[in-house]
Amino acid sequence: MPPIVYLDGAYVDRSEALVSVWDHGFLYGDGVFEGIRAYNGRVFKLREHLVRLYNSARSLMITIPVTIDEMEKAVLETCRKNGFVDAYIRLVISRGVGDLGIDPRKCTGHATVVIIADRIALYPPETYEVGLKIVTAATRKNSNDAFSAQVKSLNYLNNILAKLEAIHAGVFEAVMVNRDGYITECTTENIFIVAKGELHTPPVHVGILKGITRDTVMELAEKRGIKVRELPFTAHDVYVAEECFVTGTGAEIIPVVGIDGRTIGSGKPGLMTAQLLADYRALTSQEGTAI
Ligand code: PMP
Repeated sequence: MPPIVYLDGAYVDRSEALVSVWDHGFLYGDGVFEGIRAYNGRVFKLREHLVRLYNSARSLMITIPVTIDEMEKAVLETCRKNGFVDAYIRLVISRGVGDLGIDPRKCTGHATVVIIADRIALYPPETYEVGLKIVTAATRKNSNDAFSAQVKSLNYLNNILAKLEAIHAGVFEAVMVNRDGYITECTTENIFIVAKGELHTPPVHVGILKGITRDTVMELAEKRGIKVRELPFTAHDVYVAEECFVTGTGAEIIPVVGIDGRTIGSGKPGLMTAQLLADYRALTSQEGTAI
């Protein structure tokens, strides 16, 4: 059965899930999105993702034509129609159809609303067992006065430039530094380090997306009695960290064992990382909105 896609209020076949070339999401990246995951028949942190989506849209003055409650029902219905119990769900909202000018007022219709539920492309198990090597990107993170990283927008070119650097360096990920020299986040994950037994992650104001996995990991660490601090740090602090990992909805918690040619800690995934991954997986297998 081919995937069924929610498009502007209708459930359509994958082959019919088409958006106009006049859509300002396509022409200008004028839109927002979310990536959500369903585990074992339950959508994890659904409400949190929807609140972030609606806040991203509000920040860009895009009116989503359905309420958050209706959107929640539509996400669950899309999963049901596809028969998925484990899924990666992508919500995309664009400003809608306009003309070739950038003026958002020319998008006189409604915002385009898309919900795709697809099979989750899991990272290979060795990613979690062996860990990743990453680099710091030369491309600077967009500054807060240019564009807020808290808006999960359809314009990911800043991150894509950093991803290209990772690919050319022969590694999987790159971490981006802001113009003050502080570590922000990877191209699609937040970053954590362990220093003197404490867990440190950059604060939102350095220019990061407030990751939902990041929030969850901070809660899980506190439950374990680990001291968690949101603290600006530099590449040097990562070089000398005891452990490092990245977090994201798709990635969950992936250990980082090397950066910029340096070995982090023992060069093997650390104990705190492994404990938090186990806690995170236990949580995702229990919690969530039933499909
Ligand atoms: N930072 C960026 C730039 C992202 O795109 C994402 C989402 N893939 C994250 C962090 C992690 O956010 P979350 O844990 O909410 O998926």
